[in-house]
Amino acid sequence: MRLFVLSLFLIASAARAESADGWFDGKDGAAAPAAAAAAKKAAEKKIEKPALADDDRLWVIIEAADKSARQAVVDAGVAIEGMSGSQVAGVASLKALQKLKDRGIRVIKQTSLRVISTEDFPTADSAYHNYAETEAELKAIAASAPELASVFSIGQSWQGRAISALRLNTTAKGTQASKKPGAVFMGTHHAREHISTEVPLLIAKWIVENRNRADVKKLLEDRDVYFIPIVNPDGAEYDIATGKYRWQRKNMRKNSDGSVGVDLNRNYDFRFGGPGASDDPDSDTYHGPSAFSEPESKAVKAFFEARSNLKTFISYHSFSELVLYPWGGADEPISDQRALKAYKAMAEKMAGWTGYTAQQSSDLYVATGDTCDWSWEKRKVFSFTIELTPASQWAGGFYPGAAVISSAVQKNLQPVLYLIGLADDPTRAADSN
Ligand SMILES: [Zn+2]
Repeated sequence: MRLFVLSLFLIASAARAESADGWFDGKDGAAAPAAAAAAKKAAEKKIEKPALADDDRLWVIIEAADKSARQAVVDAGVAIEGMSGSQVAGVASLKALQKLKDRGIRVIKQTSLRVISTEDFPTADSAYHNYAETEAELKAIAASAPELASVFSIGQSWQGRAISALRLNTTAKGTQASKKPGAVFMGTHHAREHISTEVPLLIAKWIVENRNRADVKKLLEDRDVYFIPIVNPDGAEYDIATGKYRWQRKNMRKNSDGSVGVDLNRNYDFRFGGPGASDDPDSDTYHGPSAFSEPESKAVKAFFEARSNLKTFISYHSFSELVLYPWGGADEPISDQRALKAYKAMAEKMAGWTGYTAQQSSDLYVATGDTCDWSWEKRKVFSFTIELTPASQWAGGFYPGAAVISSAVQKNLQPVLYLIGLADDPTRAADSN
């Protein structure tokens, strides 16, 4: 069944690629040959979900020597994923590529994602947890320490998958309220960033396994801690569903133009729809029809809003090895000077442990509507985006292989314990230097 569906899918995408030979054929499917349209229709009928993804996307290398040049690239709808000297690399749809061309931005190299897709989760990367394995692992962790750990769902994805949270609290379970200071660690807003599932999941496991160590025990008695390893389960599953990585970033919403997906990390309601977020549904950085239009980001919103005790937060992404603090959506620093000092001190500490680089999120380029700008602005939670390993596309990019998992987990353990510890009053980090 799967092979049959896949072959239809390939026929359909080959036909789409053909119609796009002159780069761009106007609105999706408008100029496609009848046979292609028929094949596409047949494929859509067979594949109820996931729908066809935007598989005509390209890996592009672009000359962009400074921040304003990078901003122009982002504003064309490209998701920048790496930098090397005066060049950036990232993922562009055909439409975004056309925009670059129209705006006179030089693309040095472009490669179809279908050509450079890497084999797989199931075999070479089987150490990575898919959705079902993540769910099973969370339940197993909770079952191993019922006095401390519990699992509940914060909401559901478009396709009905539960977005699960593991909670560590010695006195409250599930969704029971707690007055203890809280910390939360989330992964995989972006589907193809699978290492960002492994880090929170395996750190949670480590903490539970080491719950009787004196320092850990003390920490857990006084805190309310959450791990949400997969915010975007539909996208993550879609990315690996054929046994070949599909470079999916967004969720699996069916957009009105026939494209698939909203960039969940552009869908939050602070400076929504501003620079660095695309209004083109086809773009990898499409912000969605409105702020919090997506069930996944809505679930995160509700999660925060139900828990005013939350004070520290990491949203894991990959890659680049960075520790980022707000703002991401504006050039200027946050206005609260004491908080800014604390942010910088915390980021530097975490950079020291991980070997990553600490900086304001917008130092690379401005991107609006992300989780951390929202959680800082609206909830006053000290919020960090950590871009995990590897350092570059040339070191494995989104798919660095299973060998990096354990070192990524090791390096990121201390920052997690540190933020849990600081949750009573994160601003005291400002006094630490
Ligand atoms: Zn990401």
